[in-house]
Amino acid sequence: MQPFHAEIISIGEELLSSESETLDTNSVYITQQLGTLGVRVLYKTTVGDDEMRIADVLRIAMQRVSIIITTGGLGPTVDDKTRQAVAIATNRQLVFQQALLDEIAAKFARFNVRMSANNRAQATLPEGAVAISNPAGTAPGFYVEHNGAIIISLPGVPREVKAIMEQSVLPLLRTRLGAPRVIKTRVLRTAGIGESHIDEQIGHLERLSNPTVGLNAHAGQTDIRITARAESESEADALIAPVEAEIRARIGDYIFGIGKETLEQAFADALARSGLRIVIGELYTGGIVQRRLSKATFCDGTLHFADQTVLERLRSAFQGDLRTVCEQVASALCAEYSTDAALVVIAESDSSAMAVTNGTQTRSRAYFYGTDVTTPEVPSGWAIAMGWHMLKSAQRRSDVGDQPASSDNR
Ligand code: AMP
Ligand code: MG
Repeated sequence: MQPFHAEIISIGEELLSSESETLDTNSVYITQQLGTLGVRVLYKTTVGDDEMRIADVLRIAMQRVSIIITTGGLGPTVDDKTRQAVAIATNRQLVFQQALLDEIAAKFARFNVRMSANNRAQATLPEGAVAISNPAGTAPGFYVEHNGAIIISLPGVPREVKAIMEQSVLPLLRTRLGAPRVIKTRVLRTAGIGESHIDEQIGHLERLSNPTVGLNAHAGQTDIRITARAESESEADALIAPVEAEIRARIGDYIFGIGKETLEQAFADALARSGLRIVIGELYTGGIVQRRLSKATFCDGTLHFADQTVLERLRSAFQGDLRTVCEQVASALCAEYSTDAALVVIAESDSSAMAVTNGTQTRSRAYFYGTDVTTPEVPSGWAIAMGWHMLKSAQRRSDVGDQPASSDNR
């Protein structure tokens, strides 16, 4: 079994109840922390306070990952079932540990609180379990090693989970995994290509274990994260390089930057290199394209924004489907503002469309899902990407000195 694969099991009726407002924040936190060790969470399971169901979930987890972290169900009350469930799943007896009860009792004494009889349950652990002290509360955690897997059981209170993770669990796992000294992530940022198309091209790389490759789509862009674990920075780079090269060979045309580079700045840079002047018109998008592009630095005089009344006049002058209208408005804007290029995006309640033209070549797209001024992020992302793509190829054409071909609608 892969030593770096984990499952998180969140235990508690309140996480499943329709009445409850408890969000499973522990699993999110634990996932982030495991990530710092290069451990990948393959599954998250949520189960109520039922010892048989918890034991079932544990048995399944032990068949598929080697690190299992449970959270919740370690309190002293009858509905806290994690200790029993771990005992059942690993075929062990529950054993009372006097030393552990003494520790718990000392804590109560320090807090000046009377300990009740049921706290004895918290000192009763599966045979062979190692207690993990809880610096932020009374319920100790524990871990059990079983058939090559480790089950680490933590309380449910988020503050206690954090304290135990930092103080004990992360150091324990670091030692156990012989944790790599370097975890390096390189993020390739793409735009103008859908997540599913990327997946089609590089799906086989997403199954690698070192480096790992993962996708993260947001607002018309998709990030490709390549993460390597290694003994040194240069070893990590050497693991990442061939994977990055393969991704670039397949979809390099859509990669606009790495790390924190933005699509807006890639657009500005491509515009500067193209030597073109562009006008941008957007209708019913709440001005999001302008807002986004204003975050980038442009060369003077290359970028213009069309006036809303001009746009509305042009939009009503053309008939037909929205995509065709966008194309016509784009060429009309070039003439109106005497620019070389135009980018137009029009959002309507049930669809949106966009077009970019450089006078000789026009590209356009239409999307048939609801957009309105409150959710224009996706069409604006696609529109900026489309503009960036056109400007980039305009530059390449001027580099090689040949003329653009005829219309290239996609
Ligand atoms: P327990 O240790 O199961 O008694 O949980 C104690 C309290 O911690 C619960 O009442 C919840 O408010 C909180 N809690 C339990 N599980 C989680 C979780 N997965 N994420 C966030 N809070 C939790
Ligand atoms: Mg509980």
